[in-house]
Amino acid sequence: LVSRDVKEDNTVVRFANGATIGSEELAVVAGPCAIENHKQAFAIAEHVAKSGVRFFRGGAYKPRTSPYSFQGLGEEGLKIMAEIRDQFGLLIVTEAVDNESLDQVEKYADVIQIGARNMQNFSLLKRAGRARKPVLLKRGMSATLEEFLMAAEYVMSEGNYNVVLCERGVRTFSDYTRNTLDLSVVPAVHRLSHLPILVDPSHGTGVRSKVTPLSRASVAVGADGLIVEVHNEPDRALSDGKQSLYLEQFDELMTQVRQIAPVV
Ligand code: PEP
Ligand code: MN
Repeated sequence: LVSRDVKEDNTVVRFANGATIGSEELAVVAGPCAIENHKQAFAIAEHVAKSGVRFFRGGAYKPRTSPYSFQGLGEEGLKIMAEIRDQFGLLIVTEAVDNESLDQVEKYADVIQIGARNMQNFSLLKRAGRARKPVLLKRGMSATLEEFLMAAEYVMSEGNYNVVLCERGVRTFSDYTRNTLDLSVVPAVHRLSHLPILVDPSHGTGVRSKVTPLSRASVAVGADGLIVEVHNEPDRALSDGKQSLYLEQFDELMTQVRQIAPVV
């Protein structure tokens, strides 16, 4: 089902407010790693909405390396994002980490994110395949392209054809960045599949100063859009502060990206 041999024309995911993922225009998803509180989330959402972005990201269920790190606000975080949708007209992209959280995310969000760590959680993929919302599927940090596409196949095989892929960096021996962003998969995905693919230069590099240059590169290589972490106070962020852009840096990113391609 993922294959270009089965469906020649590009899949375009369409939303009620007219936004799209996979069209000629770039889809940019921006927001904090995690929803921390009402004030933080609203400050960031207001800013990214003004910059013309249509999609807001924020984690309510966070897959953290340490069980003692902030795990997210859960349903309270989802409720804050639902308010953000109402107030700013932004579409909400947020992660589900298991079948229970997926039930909740499906109720509140516009796009269900499956994170890198769950790319081969086949029961979660099948559950996402039965959901009525589009799925943003992130590449596992050691997944081959074949494994990545087969994970999308799991979702589609259950009947959900609105799947958006996302390259977010893979593990290599290089420790200069958090992960090594594999931009070569973008044209490879476009050749093999009709599904759209976004790039996440935030998790892909783990370093704030690398996010804007790698965003330009992602767009230049043909990505259908970007997912970027932005924070009003990155130095106080409860997760991924080092890779989160300051609000003004995000505006600069958008200015630069718009010089390469139009944004939805
Ligand atoms: C995220 O987008 O918040 C996230 C945890 O990303 P990944 O699954 O790519 O690590
Ligand atoms: Mn993050």
